[in-house]
Amino acid sequence: MNKRAADMTRGGRDVIPLSLGEPDFHTAEHVKDAGIAAIKRNFTKYTNSEGFGALRQAVAGKLQRENGLTFAADQIVIGSGSKSVFLAAFWTVVDPGCEVVIPAPYWVSYPDLVELAGGTPVIVPCSESAGFKLTPNDLERAITPRTRAIVFNSPNNPTGAVYSETEIRALAQVLEKHPQVWVVTDELYEHIVYDSTRVVYFAKAAAGIADRVVTVCGFSKSYVMTGWRLSFAAGNPSVMKAIGDILSQIHGAPSSIAQAAAIEALQGDQSFIKKNQKVFKERRDLIVERANRTPGLHALPPPGAFYVYVNCGPWIGRTSAGGRRLANDIDVVEALLEEAAVATVPGTVFGLSPYFRISYALELERLRTAMDRVEEFARGLR
Ligand code: PLP
Repeated sequence: MNKRAADMTRGGRDVIPLSLGEPDFHTAEHVKDAGIAAIKRNFTKYTNSEGFGALRQAVAGKLQRENGLTFAADQIVIGSGSKSVFLAAFWTVVDPGCEVVIPAPYWVSYPDLVELAGGTPVIVPCSESAGFKLTPNDLERAITPRTRAIVFNSPNNPTGAVYSETEIRALAQVLEKHPQVWVVTDELYEHIVYDSTRVVYFAKAAAGIADRVVTVCGFSKSYVMTGWRLSFAAGNPSVMKAIGDILSQIHGAPSSIAQAAAIEALQGDQSFIKKNQKVFKERRDLIVERANRTPGLHALPPPGAFYVYVNCGPWIGRTSAGGRRLANDIDVVEALLEEAAVATVPGTVFGLSPYFRISYALELERLRTAMDRVEEFARGLR
C-alpha cells in the first residue's frame, strides 16, 4: 500500500498514507551523535556475531531496570532487526511440520516466518469483544500434541492491544499443562503506550514457565530506529546459543555503528520516549473520535502502538459513490485509495476481517484531512 500510495503521489495525486509501519519522528539527537562518534573513533569493524559485549550488558541492565527480568549478558543475543531473530527462534524451537499458534490479528510476517522455518501456522481469531486478545479457552483449544510454540505480541500490531499481567498469567496457566510449548514474544512497541497502560513482559508475568519464553524486542519502534536495524532476544542459554549460531550464518555481526547508538538509546536521556508518546496520544484520540463519528465505522481506543483497527462491517455489501461494490475489506481499502486518496491496510492481511488498519504516524493536520476524506467517502455509500 505504501508503494501504491507513493506511485499515485508521483503521478500527481495527493494521497495521504495511513499505511506506514514506522514512526514519523527522527532518531533522538544524542542517539544519532553516538552513532556518528562510533564512526569517528573507528568503531567500524565486526563485533561478536551475537552482539557487542557492552550492548548485551546494556540490554541486560534495561531488562532488569524496566522489566524486572534478570538475564546474564550471555543470555542475550543482538540481531539485525527482529525478523531474522523470529526466524531463528522458530527454527530453534519448532520441529519441521509442527504447529505454531498465532493469535489474529497478527503482524503480517509471523505466518511466513513460521513456514520458512518449516512450521505450520495455526491462526486463532481474537474477537473485538475480547479486545482482540487471546483468551485462555481459545489457547487451550488451539493446542495439540504437535504444538511447539505460540506467538505473543503486546502491544499488538495492528490493534494496539496490550495484555495485562493477569491476562498473561491466565495464558501461562494453560501453558503449564503443555510443557512442549514455547512462547516467542514480540514486545517491540513497549514504550508506545497511553494513559496508565503498563506493558508487562510475558516472561515477567509468567515466571513459572519463563524458561520456555524467548523474549524478543527491538529498537525500531520504541526507540525510533527502524533504519538502524537492531533488535535483541533474551532467554534460556541453550536456545540463545542456537539463535546466535543461526544469526551468525544469516547476517553475521549486527552493525557496530548501530550497536554503539543503541547503547546510548538504552542508557542516555530517555525523555524522547515521553515526548513521542504525547504526540502519538493526541493523534490516537483524534483518529478514534473521528472513526467513531463516521457512519458505519467503529474503533476501540488502542492502549498501545500507533495503529487503530477500524471495524468496517456495516460498509460491506454497499456500493461507493464511484460505483465500487464493497464485498470485503480489500475492496474497502481499494475504494478508499482510489476515491478518497487515503491509503490504509485491509484486515484480511492481518488475519481478521472486516477491518482496516489506520497508522497515525503522520502529522495531526494530515490526519484530520484524511479523516475528512474517509467521512465524505462514507456519506457517498449507497
Ligand atoms: N514486530 C512487529 C509487531 C512489527 O510491527 C514490526 C514492524 O512493523 C516488526 C516486528 C519488525 O521490526 P524490525 O524488523 O524493524 O525489528
